[in-house]
Amino acid sequence: MTTPSVPLVPQHAELPHARPGPLTRPFWDGCAAGELRFQRCRACRNAQFPAAEVCRDCLGRDLAWERGAGTGTLYSWTVVHRPVTPAFEVPYAPAIVDLDEGYQMMTNLIGIAPEAITPDLPVEVEFHKTGDALYLPYFRPRATVS
Ligand SMILES: [Zn+2]
Repeated sequence: MTTPSVPLVPQHAELPHARPGPLTRPFWDGCAAGELRFQRCRACRNAQFPAAEVCRDCLGRDLAWERGAGTGTLYSWTVVHRPVTPAFEVPYAPAIVDLDEGYQMMTNLIGIAPEAITPDLPVEVEFHKTGDALYLPYFRPRATVS
């Protein structure tokens, strides 16, 4: 299969996804406001995502939401040509990003052609609305690297 040399784009259709609940509502509200939010443990300072009732490092329950910078580096990715469901437009690139605050997030890459993706690529978040009004965080190559 030939990989197209056009930049990846956000999905346009309504996608299957988790519904925001009491635990995850601050994250989804942040996405709608253009903020990438994560939890930080007040006891051990561990940054974590996705949201949980307890700290994954010390099991403490004193967790607070923080706004992240939305920047990080690419840890791993794949390029999908055969979607899990017909709702997904191909190709798309699921990815794991190392956020600068010290946690990882599963996301999708946009704004780069599949063959141009490289390990440790500096990336930044960009929010796009799905078909049903939920905003999803995508990551694209960082415009300027400090
Ligand atoms: Zn902790």
